[in-house]
Amino acid sequence: MKLDATDLRYITSDEFRVLTAVEMGSKNHEIVPTQLIVQISGLRNGGVNKNLGSLAKRNLVARVQNARYDGYRLTYGGYDYLAMRALSKRDSMYSVGNQIGVGKESDIYIVADSEGKEMVLKLHRLGRVSFRAIKEKRDYMGKRKSASWMYMSRLAAEKEWAFMSVLHEHGFPVPRPIDHARHCILMEFIDAYPLRQVADVPSPGKLYSDLMDVIVRFARAGLIHGDFNEFNILIRRDTGEPVVIDFPQMVSTSHFNAEMYFNRDVQCIRKYFRKRFRYESSIYPKFSSVQTGEGQGEEGEDFRLDVVVAASGFKQKDQEVLEEYMHTVSNEEPEDDEEDEEEGTEEDEEDEAEEAAAEEGEAQRGGADNGPESQSQHPPPNGSDDA
Ligand code: ADP
Ligand code: MG
Repeated sequence: MKLDATDLRYITSDEFRVLTAVEMGSKNHEIVPTQLIVQISGLRNGGVNKNLGSLAKRNLVARVQNARYDGYRLTYGGYDYLAMRALSKRDSMYSVGNQIGVGKESDIYIVADSEGKEMVLKLHRLGRVSFRAIKEKRDYMGKRKSASWMYMSRLAAEKEWAFMSVLHEHGFPVPRPIDHARHCILMEFIDAYPLRQVADVPSPGKLYSDLMDVIVRFARAGLIHGDFNEFNILIRRDTGEPVVIDFPQMVSTSHFNAEMYFNRDVQCIRKYFRKRFRYESSIYPKFSSVQTGEGQGEEGEDFRLDVVVAASGFKQKDQEVLEEYMHTVSNEEPEDDEEDEEEGTEEDEEDEAEEAAAEEGEAQRGGADNGPESQSQHPPPNGSDDA
């Protein structure tokens, strides 16, 4: 998908208001009824329809007609737009360059600030695979089943932000986090190649032990990367030093499956070095030897970063929801989810009327750009607003 930064600066304030209204309505509706958009935006009917038309033309919303009502849904483009606009309003980024990565669950772009300094924008894309399995699990999605991709993508970004920040502060070799908004993270650009693309290294033994050291340092600080593979390790072009990326699946060493995750990370490196560099060592870290007590880490890590992250605002409950999602999709075949849309029940409709009234109050405050951003309003997993 093309991201056009010039667009960021040319949207009318009414269009922005309508787009924000669609986003708010999306908390409870995959397809937001036009009438609800009118209510939330606080604009006149005719104006809303005209703005919806122009937003749809730019693919920021999509019109959906279904059996019961006509409405609109926020597209990924619309969500991207809102996030990038927030970042650019606070001068974190200014322009968008080339796409450098397409993962299963993210898109990566080179962007720049107003001085032309390059950075990396990671847009999380959870929910590119089907949500059918998720929707069946109402116990943890609650009535918020329609929040799906927006909610999960935002959780992944929040988690990645929390971990990257704590790791960077504590001197781990990770990119410097710069800013985040909704499902997006802005970080330092690392001039590097993924290990996957590196055919030869001067000393495989040295790199191997550096990588195992990183795994051990993580664990001594209470953390396991969980996806420590040749795609998530970047090798700096100038120094050959490794930089670790991609944190949405990190777990604490107190996780009930910690040992499995730890061993999987270790084995991943062993296997890759054997295959790619024909390097094999009988020395590799064991989980039992890196475990630390609850409060204190060892050897220079003076505290448990899993505890620091938990205290940083990324809640345990959010972790659990995200983990359950990741677990579910890793067992699912990807499929087209376009037709997977689902409507609310009668009961939902009543809630919506109430929430629409509350939300209307918010929209009336007049299209503040940070909107839901600043208030951490992502829908709570169990439908209670105080989570
Ligand atoms: P995914 O979750 O889709 O795997 P990653 O965070 O692993 O996303 O990033 C995907 C790719 O984008 C990486 O393999 C790397 O090539 C590139 N990339 C990501 N972050 C950076 C960065 N900070 N600097 C340079 N390249 C990056
Ligand atoms: Mg990755």
